Amino acid sequence: MPTSRDITRQRALHASRPLWADTPRLSLRLHQAPTARDYDVIIIGAGISGALMAHALADGKRRVLVVDRRKPVHGSTLASTAMIQHEIDIPLHRLADMIGEANARRAWQRSARAVEELSQIVTDLGISCGFERKKTLFLAGDAYGQRALRSEVGARHAAAIESDFLDAATLAERFGLDRTGAILSDISASANPAQMAAGILRAAMGRGVEVVSPLEITDLHATADEVFLATSDGRILAARHAVFCSGYEFHEAVANENHAIVSTWALSTPPDTTLPDWLKECIIWEGADPYLYLRRTRDGRLIAGGEDEASEDAYASATKLRQKAKTIRRKAGALLGVTLPEPDHVWAAPFGITRTGLPLIGRVPKHPNVFAVMGFGGNGITFSQIAAEIVSADIAGQGDADADLFAFEKP
Ligand SMILES: Cc1cc2nc3c(=O)[nH]c(=O)nc-3n(C[C@H](O)[C@H](O)[C@H](O)COP(=O)(O)OP(=O)(O)OC[C@H]3O[C@@H](n4cnc5c(N)ncnc54)[C@H](O)[C@@H]3O)c2cc1C
Repeated sequence: MPTSRDITRQRALHASRPLWADTPRLSLRLHQAPTARDYDVIIIGAGISGALMAHALADGKRRVLVVDRRKPVHGSTLASTAMIQHEIDIPLHRLADMIGEANARRAWQRSARAVEELSQIVTDLGISCGFERKKTLFLAGDAYGQRALRSEVGARHAAAIESDFLDAATLAERFGLDRTGAILSDISASANPAQMAAGILRAAMGRGVEVVSPLEITDLHATADEVFLATSDGRILAARHAVFCSGYEFHEAVANENHAIVSTWALSTPPDTTLPDWLKECIIWEGADPYLYLRRTRDGRLIAGGEDEASEDAYASATKLRQKAKTIRRKAGALLGVTLPEPDHVWAAPFGITRTGLPLIGRVPKHPNVFAVMGFGGNGITFSQIAAEIVSADIAGQGDADADLFAFEKP
């Protein structure tokens, strides 16, 4: 039977202090140690993916354990700028060239449904996390010009995904933005991702899910009926299923050439920054390389990010952090036509991407009953919800019509 060691290589998941680290309602009443040896499901990772997975699996009957070697929600979830979008990094018309039209449509439609579902979960659980429904403006840039954006709107309409093309004049008139075109679409949101994940975990705990932290899973042995997990404090835990929601510290068995870790940077300005009024309703991203994206928080901060570099560790450089923050601030100010104040938080982080912009979700090859969730890409949070739906259906013995799109081993 397969066994593995050092199964999720640890890395710094953010450099400097993300904005959300200074916000309330992140703490949970944790267990110091697992109360049992046997569980139905053990979830490794207490970020947004682990939280949504726990929510999907908590039926009051299953014994579900969530473990994390860090404090819950202190991994990549704490660094996220949390633009919750259905728009996948690779536009629909380009994705169709990569994986076929029908598959690309299914991926985009599934992504749109996941944002709606996430919004419903936050509402149903009454989580206070600054969640707001938003529209998205996707601006033409050097990677996707206005012609590509027109084709994209055509592809989205054919897939019954609403969006409107805005030409340069309309964009200037309605938003005061100087670009050759843009796509305006619905089905987006924004939130404090750490409060959102903590709130979802808290609700799952209310339905019997146990959350233990700090506790590290160091080894794994999977048999046909059971998964055994070794912990850093010398225990052996057993479960019918194990789900790795370990973010960019992914399970070594699922490392492959289709995904990569890059470096990214972000900043936030202080509350009540002077910003255009329409930013209350719209989030923005650019079809450019390197790209810029930005949004406003409820208390009037601007959050902006981008300037990605194809390097696993550039984010650790203090010099780069200063330079990148300066560039993001300058670009965001120029785009919005405002002078932005000095940011009060600047941070950098590793960030997972895939060639197609799609996440990897499903059974880990050669490891029976072990699942992994790699919600890679700019809309990782939306993908965490898709993962929760697909994996929980599989564990319940039901299929999911879209599981093939995201599987580690494509059919
Ligand atoms: C700067 C930045 C901006 C982003 N912006 C957006 C955005 O605007 N919109 C969007 O949708 N997404 C965005 N993302 C992506 C999104 O934040 C991630 O997809 C999401 O946070 C990943 O959550 P997770 O729960 O999978 O991982 P994490 O939050 O990293 O949680 C994984 C947890 O697993 C734990 N773990 C790992 N290995 C082990 C082990 N062996 N034993 C025990 N515990 C273990 C870790 O300690 C960690 O806490 C952004 C990411 C970054 C970094």
